[in-house]
Amino acid sequence: MRCVASAQVGAGIGACARLRVTSRVWGRGQIRRNLSHMRRSVVDYGLARRATLASVLSGRTTVTDVCDAHPYLLRAAKFHGEGTDITCPICRRTKLTHVTYVYGDELGRYEGRVKRSPELDEMALEYAEFKVYVVEVCQSCAWNHLASSYVLGTGEPTPRRSRRARASE
Ligand SMILES: [Zn+2]
Repeated sequence: MRCVASAQVGAGIGACARLRVTSRVWGRGQIRRNLSHMRRSVVDYGLARRATLASVLSGRTTVTDVCDAHPYLLRAAKFHGEGTDITCPICRRTKLTHVTYVYGDELGRYEGRVKRSPELDEMALEYAEFKVYVVEVCQSCAWNHLASSYVLGTGEPTPRRSRRARASE
């Protein structure tokens, strides 16, 4: 079965690579006080989500087509996801779980990993820039859709540390 979330994330990364992301330079102390305001280049996929749901309602798309979360994604939701108050738009049986993936040249072995909010806050202070993709998943019916994406990081033009140096730490 096709993994919609992976496809969407992949598409997002392509778009990201084509976009020139503007970096903002923050003072170190300012960063600590403004963690919640550090998200840059925020994209809300609500419109695409509504279009997908409208397509299901009209019968153009089947429920099977949209409830096709890959087993890895369901596993990530179960063990590494973060609960939300949003009821699943398809089965309405359970609340959606957010699974958050991180991507970026600086991340090395952490690229493509699932992270929770506290880890993101730490990473935002450590790395200059990385992209975050949030996928909503229903653990009951396997509905999945890209919810949002944004850029985190200090935005500081850090001297590039090699992955080898980072790995040996
Ligand atoms: Zn559901």
